[in-house]
Amino acid sequence: MTTTIVTSVEVRDLTGMERTVALYASDMPNQRRRHAKDQIRAWIVQGAERVGVDELRRRAEYFRGWRLLDLNGQVTPQIQARHEQRFPRPKRLEYAESQATNTLFTDGISEAARRRNDWAVVDGDCPCGDTGDIAAWGSEGPAMLCPVHHRAEIDAFHRARRAAR
Ligand SMILES: [Zn+2]
Repeated sequence: MTTTIVTSVEVRDLTGMERTVALYASDMPNQRRRHAKDQIRAWIVQGAERVGVDELRRRAEYFRGWRLLDLNGQVTPQIQARHEQRFPRPKRLEYAESQATNTLFTDGISEAARRRNDWAVVDGDCPCGDTGDIAAWGSEGPAMLCPVHHRAEIDAFHRARRAAR
């Protein structure tokens, strides 16, 4: 007799960051070794169901917000602290991300998930003060565009355009 496992979560319908957060929350062991694709897939589904879809998306957006600021050297102590509170094990997070990224190639990504891929939210006070511009120390005028809030403006523009079609 075979048992059919019905799941509400499809790996294809999750962004790379959502898959990372799901793997982080799953029973995946911390040891870095090769796992079968089906096993990784099962852990993603397990983690996603454990966290819940709404919370999964929220954590993934915060993670992406932190990543974008981090890439630009703009993470504040507050944002870093909240990131570490959410993901206390950086090595596990890194490992989860590498495994999750592999599934983008093996499983692909649905259109809906691809659209969410760039969504990012800053958990805390953004260095740009939500203006989209980050001022340089000791100088006047915007020194750089905020990687999160400038991007959010662009995304909002594209969303509005799609909605208008
Ligand atoms: Zn910002």
